[in-house]
Amino acid sequence: MKLVRYLNNSKEGFGVYEDGVIHVVDDLFNPRRTGVVLSSDEVSLLAPCMPSKIICGGLNYKDHAAEMKMPLPHEPIIFMKPATAVLEPGGVIRYPSISRQLEYEAELALVIGKKARHVSVEDAPGYILGYTCFNDVTARDLQKMDGQWTRAKSFDTFAPFGPWIETEIDPGNVIVEAYLNGERKQSSSTANMVFSAYTLLSFVSQVMTLLPGDVIATGTPPGIGPMKAGDEIEVRISGIGSLTNKVAY
Ligand code: MG
Repeated sequence: MKLVRYLNNSKEGFGVYEDGVIHVVDDLFNPRRTGVVLSSDEVSLLAPCMPSKIICGGLNYKDHAAEMKMPLPHEPIIFMKPATAVLEPGGVIRYPSISRQLEYEAELALVIGKKARHVSVEDAPGYILGYTCFNDVTARDLQKMDGQWTRAKSFDTFAPFGPWIETEIDPGNVIVEAYLNGERKQSSSTANMVFSAYTLLSFVSQVMTLLPGDVIATGTPPGIGPMKAGDEIEVRISGIGSLTNKVAY
């Protein structure tokens, strides 16, 4: 099932995207169809949920760690992006005037379905609503300069995700890809992850309470690189779909 959040006549709603139309539902976390059907040109898609926080895993692919010549972490490395960084599918990533090195990072993200605290790895699947495409947009020069990542990761528009939440994939075996202006730049399987989506959820839940709609991005595979104004960046994940955004000043 593909869960969407949309705007229709300036009104926000949720739906199930199926066969090119949207079946309106009453709630994102416990979706029941209302019987109303909207065509896709009647709506504009929003980011499929509004997280209270976004947690990201760093250096979580074996092939990416090898590319960076970094040792594999013994525990997940996590950082956060603010909710104000959220960007809808098709939205414009704004190139900050204080950066000279804006980069894409294609990632699989999970969306929390119910309040999660001190969750075991085994129980983690029960707390996940579904999965979506995520671009962990990064001002690489600021990341290197600052020594910690808050500024580099947190600009408005630096957290595009969507276009929907797919509830029925196996997060341990999908292909995560980035296409810059149609050219493939990143491609790897989540089977190459150091820590699984379930392990990340469990790890984060030992630290902070995760609320419905919170997003955990699971790290990026090899092939990260720069974007410039005018570029189009696409994150494509097998079994989910494709998230496309343009870059502009
Ligand atoms: Mg990342």
